[in-house]
Amino acid sequence: AVEITSMNKWYGDFHALRDIDLTVRRGERIVICGPSGSGKSTMIRCINRLEEHQSGKIFVDGIELTSDLKNIEQVRREVGMVFQHFNLFPHLTILENCILAPIWVRKVPERQAREIAMHFLEKVRIPDQAHKYPGQLSGGQQQRVAIARSLCMKPRIMLFDEPTSALDPEMIKEVLDTMITLAEEGMTMLCVTHEMGFAQAVADRVIFMDQGQIVEQNEPKAFFRAPQSERTRTFLGQIL
Ligand code: ATP
Ligand code: MG
Repeated sequence: AVEITSMNKWYGDFHALRDIDLTVRRGERIVICGPSGSGKSTMIRCINRLEEHQSGKIFVDGIELTSDLKNIEQVRREVGMVFQHFNLFPHLTILENCILAPIWVRKVPERQAREIAMHFLEKVRIPDQAHKYPGQLSGGQQQRVAIARSLCMKPRIMLFDEPTSALDPEMIKEVLDTMITLAEEGMTMLCVTHEMGFAQAVADRVIFMDQGQIVEQNEPKAFFRAPQSERTRTFLGQIL
């Protein structure tokens, strides 16, 4: 589903990503962890071209991300993204937030867009909030709306960038449960998160990044039981 080879990214002089090689198969669930500033967000933002890479190749479902932006719309349609801060439109209701992109980008008729939105709001278990505004919802509810809104575009891949790190502890579980359900349904997922319980429960692979590089990756059991690199051990020692 995603294929990255020898990818490098600079911000000016700063070498943010170094020789990234990463293949994500359809249906695979990947957790990305690593210290602050290691390039986790930059890497997943390159996958839907919120950031541009300077060398190497990125393919998403066979479509190459090129600098001419020719196929950017096509790629954005395939890839959903959920951020730490939910980025809902505050002046639109929950339902309106969910139907906006399907109507304007996917050209779905409004009535059908509403049905799809209600389907996914039920899935994240807040259909009763559909007519409220984001400011009237808790953080965990808003994040579930953000997930539902992404799903309304019927993406084939979902990217998550620390979706629970701005939430109070009691709301983290409801968002993780939503993500676990999605994983169980076979969604291809790349999740930047330090929720290691989530990684143990659903990840096929855990990737550790440091200083712009993928330092190590393994299936969760082995990753946590026997990290290979000193840097990984130090990091896990700090967060576990
Ligand atoms: P965190 O855990 O804090 O979210 P991260 O692993 O997601 O960290 P990135 O946000 O990808 O890290 O940043 C990687 C490096 O690139 C950091 O050193 C950061 O300062 C730098 N960086 C990120 N965005 C920009 C930008 N727009 N311009 C310049 N430097 C940037
Ligand atoms: Mg980040």
